[in-house]
Amino acid sequence: MRLIRLMRPPVFADVQAAAERLRGHAHHTPVLRSATADARAGAALFFKCENFQRMGAFKFRGAFNAIAKLSPAQQRAGVIAFSSGNHAQAIALAARELGVAATIVMPTDAPAAKLAATRDYGGEIVAYDRFSEDREALTRRIAEERGLTIIPPYDHADVIAGQGTAALELFEEVGALDALFVCLGGGGLLAGCALAAGALAPDCAVFGVEPEAGDDGRQSLRAGRIVTIAVPKTIADGAMTTHLGELTFPIIRERVRDVLTVTDEQLVAVMRFFAERMKMVVEPTGCLAAAGAFASAPQWRGRRVGVIVSGGNVDLAACAGWIGAR
Ligand SMILES: *Cc1c(COP(=O)(O)O)cnc(C)c1O
Repeated sequence: MRLIRLMRPPVFADVQAAAERLRGHAHHTPVLRSATADARAGAALFFKCENFQRMGAFKFRGAFNAIAKLSPAQQRAGVIAFSSGNHAQAIALAARELGVAATIVMPTDAPAAKLAATRDYGGEIVAYDRFSEDREALTRRIAEERGLTIIPPYDHADVIAGQGTAALELFEEVGALDALFVCLGGGGLLAGCALAAGALAPDCAVFGVEPEAGDDGRQSLRAGRIVTIAVPKTIADGAMTTHLGELTFPIIRERVRDVLTVTDEQLVAVMRFFAERMKMVVEPTGCLAAAGAFASAPQWRGRRVGVIVSGGNVDLAACAGWIGAR
């Protein structure tokens, strides 16, 4: 998408501006502590709980910021996004909040709960067959026909800046940290949080955490270029991305210490910990950062460690299956 290639990379001032825009619209989510988690890790853990964000994930931040920044003419025409997950609900809700019409391109076999949630938030759903149609081409065609603005899930300056407000709030609330762990899919959240860390806690080591089966982020850091992989098989459905973005990768390369990977088993163990000990529902993708933090805890003994818990939208039956089986 040429428009995106021409886009100016976001800087910390954009994250600050996004925080202003989000005031009164996004929740200022809680930072939770757990004595059990601290004891287990041997470090002081600060969990920034975006599972309590509106629509259940941090993606509301980027979606709202991007739509709020459009010109009045673009807002009158409406926006379009393709997603079967949290980005769909984020765009639908943020658009409704701003009085903007939203069209969401979703696969016909998307989970019924997600289709219903997106529709409940006022999004108009265009269903496509994921086996026979190219969703990006379809989205571009509808956007052109109807004069809609495409809001991509991560590779967009205003989306990245919006996601960074999660870390901005965390640092403002708890002060500097020695390390920050962030869930990684296409890198919008990680890039935005790294911008906030760079300005507010320059000595903080920032880590992305992705599923072992989908380690394109780690491969990309090693190779020094964006590496594309096949769609990974993992329960972390929000991190089934095949590559980082043209805007997210350079920021991650410059500001992120390393990308770690965790297995689905580690994610399930963390889901169970959150449910049992912290009384909260976190989706598998939302457990990536915590799983990475627990795995590398010996390195951070006695230090202050931030963990972005990215979302809580999970099918409860699947959740019960995962965490009930021991
Ligand atoms: C989208 C998503 C991610 C990954 O975010 P990126 O910006 O694509 O890296 C992580 N966790 C949850 C819950 C998500 O919805």
